[in-house]
Amino acid sequence: MSATYAPDVQPNDDVKARFALSYMLSYQYGSALKGRFFNFYGVLPEKGFPIYQATDIARVFKYEGPDSLRLETFEFYSRGFSGTDSETFFTRIYWDPSNAAWMTTIATPDETDSSGKHRIMACVDVLLDELMKRTANPALPGARSTIFAADTAGTLIFDDNYTDAITSSAGEASITSLKLSGYQPLLDASRQLAPGSASLVDTGAEIVAVGRIPETPWALAVHYPKSLMRPAILANLGILMAVGLLTLLVEIFILRSILQRQVAEPLVKLIRATQLVGGSAAALANDVLPTQSNDEIGQLARDFSTMAIRVHTAHEALEEKIQERTSELERLNRKLLTISMTDEMTGAANRRRFDNVLASEVAHIKHADDMLMLAMIDVDWFKGYNDRYGHPAGDACLRKIAEILAMNVRRDQDLVARYGGEEFAIVARIAESTNASAIGHALCAAMEAADIIHEGSPYGHVTLSVGIALAAPGKHVAEETMLLDADRALYRAKQHGRNQMALADFSASSS
Ligand code: GH3
Ligand code: MG
Ligand code: MG
Repeated sequence: MSATYAPDVQPNDDVKARFALSYMLSYQYGSALKGRFFNFYGVLPEKGFPIYQATDIARVFKYEGPDSLRLETFEFYSRGFSGTDSETFFTRIYWDPSNAAWMTTIATPDETDSSGKHRIMACVDVLLDELMKRTANPALPGARSTIFAADTAGTLIFDDNYTDAITSSAGEASITSLKLSGYQPLLDASRQLAPGSASLVDTGAEIVAVGRIPETPWALAVHYPKSLMRPAILANLGILMAVGLLTLLVEIFILRSILQRQVAEPLVKLIRATQLVGGSAAALANDVLPTQSNDEIGQLARDFSTMAIRVHTAHEALEEKIQERTSELERLNRKLLTISMTDEMTGAANRRRFDNVLASEVAHIKHADDMLMLAMIDVDWFKGYNDRYGHPAGDACLRKIAEILAMNVRRDQDLVARYGGEEFAIVARIAESTNASAIGHALCAAMEAADIIHEGSPYGHVTLSVGIALAAPGKHVAEETMLLDADRALYRAKQHGRNQMALADFSASSS
């Protein structure tokens, strides 16, 4: 068993499904048909090509790599996939090097899909020599048979007298090319004949019965030398011809019935089943299960359809599970991300997030249109607050402060972070420097308005000191510079009595 894939395209699930199907069919029936019907296989237009044969496919196709398997140069491939016809056809005979014998491929493409394309083709390679042997030696002593195509040239398919010419020409030898003038009347006669009918031709030296083999482009000729002729034989020649034709007809009939009834029909069902693996289960149950054919292929088709339904159902359940797990995972991930970026106690962004945001804002300031503002906020006399009201009250106070800060910035754009201890930071984009002072004043005012009693403070309630640094757009600035500027400004605000904001020297920081 060999299988190969010489792709023009990357195999997707559909290609793989058909390839697997083709492989299954080849595996199941390739061996059963071995002998008279040499190879049985399914071919994909994408060039998937599993084949059952004892010899290595490499010897047949001199396969050296994907490019070497040029299926399009084979008649069964180019002819079968070029049109929309799903009729069984015979290729011209060709020389099979692995068997050193003439062969023809009998192929049946599947019904075309909605886009008018075939998706798989069932093929049987038939060794012609056995067929020939049966017809080559007619029962009548002295008679011989030949087979040629009823085409323009009269391509020779079998002729004991011209075996070498046929072999050496790779099936190109013909009545015309070999100038077999004695055969010309046979060719002429064969082209006049209706399939299945026969006629007698007097060629001078021989009396020849010529018949057209139905379902093929071939003609069978039974030659009888006149030298051996006795009157009674002439009458028998018709019978002989009929027997020869009948032999071929039986062969053809067997081939056709195998291909059409046992292979082609289940094949189409199988293909539909594979298509539906990715489709809807309801459609699968509908009319897809092959029921007519009770032979092995029919059974295979049923098994395959059942499997396809199971695969589909399992696939759907899996999808659902995956969907569930994915959204659960996404939810947890978001939660984790939020947790990893949030200060647990106050709910403000934590130091890690602050560092990230400041770094990215500073990195983008060169190409930004707005100014970057960094405000460092420190709670005034907070040690005293803790000492007086206790740490839990201090914590509650810090939570309240985080809320007030958040309410005084644009929630979705500006970042409020807990920098550490009782210090907070705000990173914001602002249009002009006056906005920075406005924000600073607003924060202090909002804190005062909250009126959190702090009897240890000269203001009687909790107040904030704010130091603000600015960075101008289009200029380079270092994070450290901004942090230092904001810290210095904060120090000044403290120095000047707390409960106020101070702006860093803007021109100095943005140079
Ligand atoms: P200043 O106005 O100069 O800033 O005076 P201060 O007392 O606020 O300054 P100091 O740095 O001396 O004290 C900061 C205090 O903040 C000390 C510490 O107990 C308190 N603190 C820091 N983190 C927390 C916290 O998470 N919870 C509570 N309750 N208190 C905290
Ligand atoms: Mg402090
Ligand atoms: Mg403080």
